Amino acid sequence: MIKVVFLGPPGAGKGTQAVRIAQKYSVPHISTGDILRDAVKEGTELGKLAKSYMDKGELVPDSVIIGIIKERLSEEDVKSKGFILDGFPRTIAQAKALDELLSELNMPLDAVIFLNVEDEEIVNRLLSRGRADDTEEVIRNRIKVYRQQTEPLIDYYREKGLLKEVNGVGDIDEITKKIEEVLGLNG
Ligand code: AMP
Repeated sequence: MIKVVFLGPPGAGKGTQAVRIAQKYSVPHISTGDILRDAVKEGTELGKLAKSYMDKGELVPDSVIIGIIKERLSEEDVKSKGFILDGFPRTIAQAKALDELLSELNMPLDAVIFLNVEDEEIVNRLLSRGRADDTEEVIRNRIKVYRQQTEPLIDYYREKGLLKEVNGVGDIDEITKKIEEVLGLNG
């Protein structure tokens, strides 16, 4: 059972690392970004709402995201295997809602992996990744939103004694190894 949150700026490689750990240890990978992109593709009401925020690099409202996570965390695979949260929580309100949910489920977090990458490196990575929604203006806004709304989570989790910082620059395999180390996994 692994119960972990991946935290870090956009472009830090959270998704890549979260998927690797999830696959290797057969733990559900829960990415709110992926869930929202699927909804956009399918053209659901959720997708239509989410798209208006995603296109600007803004956050989708907390109530919407918390509802999605509440449903997903109540599924059977989570109960038996745990979860790797990728891109959630992104605000203090989301983190507090997660605390409540996990306490109801009696599934306390093992750790929060803070994948850290410096500012200029982030912009370069995001620009070269070239997702359709990644214009420079949107990228800069996503970084601003991260600084204002998500960065406070670093102290929030540090104060709870859960934060494990890992440098997100370097060889992908090496970074995975470091994450396994701080989580006490064998590799
Ligand atoms: P990501 O793939 O994690 O970078 O997410 C892409 C976009 O989805 C973000 O820029 C937000 O607009 C939206 N999103 C994903 N996760 C969240 C969340 N936890 N809270 C609010 N918005 C989110």
